[in-house]
Amino acid sequence: MTATSTLLVHDDAVRANTRHFAALTGRRLMAVLKADAFGHGSIADSVLQSGARSIGVTSIEEALALRRAGVRVPVLSWLNVVDSDIAAAIVAGVDLAVPGPEMLHAIARAGRDVGRPARVHLHVDVGMARDGCPPEEWRALCDLARELRATDLLRIVGVMGHLSCADRPDDDQNARERGVFDAALRTARRRGIVPAVAHLAATAATVTGTGTGYDLHRVGAGLFGIDPSGTSDALRPALTLTSRVVSSRVVAAGTGVGYGLDHVVPRRTALALLPVGYGDGLPRTASHRAEVLVRGRRRPIVGRISMDMVVVDTGDDRIRPGESVTLFGPGDGGEPTVADWARWADTIPHEIVTRIGSRVARVHRTTAPAAETHHQETRHDRL
Ligand SMILES: *Cc1c(COP(=O)(O)O)cnc(C)c1O
Repeated sequence: MTATSTLLVHDDAVRANTRHFAALTGRRLMAVLKADAFGHGSIADSVLQSGARSIGVTSIEEALALRRAGVRVPVLSWLNVVDSDIAAAIVAGVDLAVPGPEMLHAIARAGRDVGRPARVHLHVDVGMARDGCPPEEWRALCDLARELRATDLLRIVGVMGHLSCADRPDDDQNARERGVFDAALRTARRRGIVPAVAHLAATAATVTGTGTGYDLHRVGAGLFGIDPSGTSDALRPALTLTSRVVSSRVVAAGTGVGYGLDHVVPRRTALALLPVGYGDGLPRTASHRAEVLVRGRRRPIVGRISMDMVVVDTGDDRIRPGESVTLFGPGDGGEPTVADWARWADTIPHEIVTRIGSRVARVHRTTAPAAETHHQETRHDRL
């Protein structure tokens, strides 16, 4: 059986992007593989073989899944509720970010329970009022960390922050937030907390240089060909989404298509039905704008995007059931890109790549550099 809709993951593109960031950061690269590696699935081996030194994720569950998959390098998890399975994280040697005293107490307690010190990164909020310790509470957090460290329940290995406006390198806010981060590092040092790694930059701050000069770069989007600052042309998109035609028909001018009949075909034309919809991650707000590549030509999706299907106007081409259609890809063959879909849906590429659903089969494809036609494919389950 051939899969109906397939998400091809171009491992070679992720490897090339990773090598790019490893070089750009002087090999101080933490690969951020949260949200199923931005929807790209099992990619840890590829990034670790291409220069990443450690891995960052949000939840402890994601970190434990990486350990189960055999990942041995440092893994940092930075977003957890205080009653998460912290003990399991400590036993698995997972580093934990600390945004406040409650989490620090919970981690020290868990460390005592399992008889092993936890490795923590103190997280300061440098300006976006989201995650991390508010600057006015930072001194107290450092005091508490020093106190708990004295009991041997903690190793303070890092101090981290995250910039709010790094995709706009000319924004004064970047300098202000760097100032908050540097002050937080000084406050920590004055209390004898000298972290092995200070880290501030994600993709945009790395590409634009607004977050350079520290010990680590947490890069996610860039590994998958997404540059939030729009300033790098070195990155390669790493996904191709295809589907296959279920049926086609020829309709007369004036025929209404889909729910609400709010698209009316202006002329006699052929319509093709694809079994992929917003239940598979296509943004419904891209209705009336999105296009796909059919037989080498861009064709519009017509009518509203449904949960399970879309209709494509293929003009004079009557498409045979089973024929393949490309919804997005790197763009080399004229197909729409993830960036096109993001524009059609008035969102960012990150949202398009992270929402492709479980009905779509993931296929990892490594193109051997020497022979572009040789493909090595491995099917896998989601992480
Ligand atoms: C997602 C995330 C990153 C990676 O950001 P990208 O822009 O995808 O590189 C880094 N740090 C934190 C705290 C994050 O949540």
